Amino acid sequence: MSSTTLGLSDAVSNYLLRVGGREDKDLAKLREETSDHPMAMMQISPEQGQFMALLVELIGAKKTLEIGVFTGYSSTVVAKSLPVDGKLVALDISEEFTAIAKKYWEAAGVSAKIELILGPAKDSLATLLEEGHQQTFDFAFIDADKGNYENYYELTLALLRPGGIIAIDNVLWQGKVANDSADDDLTNAIRAFNQKLHGDQRVSLSMLTIGDGLTLALKR
Ligand code: SAH
Ligand code: CA
Repeated sequence: MSSTTLGLSDAVSNYLLRVGGREDKDLAKLREETSDHPMAMMQISPEQGQFMALLVELIGAKKTLEIGVFTGYSSTVVAKSLPVDGKLVALDISEEFTAIAKKYWEAAGVSAKIELILGPAKDSLATLLEEGHQQTFDFAFIDADKGNYENYYELTLALLRPGGIIAIDNVLWQGKVANDSADDDLTNAIRAFNQKLHGDQRVSLSMLTIGDGLTLALKR
């Protein structure tokens, strides 16, 4: 996991942030607060946040989904780029992490756009499907427990409209997916997931090296 882009020097990262980045004060404060958190490395990098916000704006997304909220960086940056009547359904299992996220949604003025559903994301996604949300989401971000990526991807694909985009985070897993001596369960789960997508003709694909690796899958 990484809150900076894989393989970039500190100097280039800082330059990106200063000159390429337009991180506003709410997001900077959220990143600052989260930097003390023992799990701060789970947060997306600022350039990735800006990219995702642009993507959402580019496709004119209105109805979006996030799986894995943590302290709220990705949800806040995406919600800010949604139109006033846009919506983000945010899924997480942790009341503790999302309490911090809520505080920042409020400060950033995006609370009204976000619906938080607490619980195991697999169950929440199944419920959304039962409630008739299939083929209605324009954009989704998958960034929760990596062992469940295949489940999240299948359920999300069903929720997405044709032409909608799923962004999946940490697909390079600090480069471990390409390291033959890495043989732990999570690395293998991400490898299997990446391989599955490679052959999945239901989507058009691009695996980006931003952050810790971000795959974009467009539903055909
Ligand atoms: N997108 C966030 C980082 C997410 S970190 C950001 O940019 O800051 C991963 C999150 O997944 C954590 O908040 C964790 O609570 C959540 N998570 C882990 N297992 C989960 C599960 N089974 N269901 C839902 N959320 C889960
Ligand atoms: Ca992540």
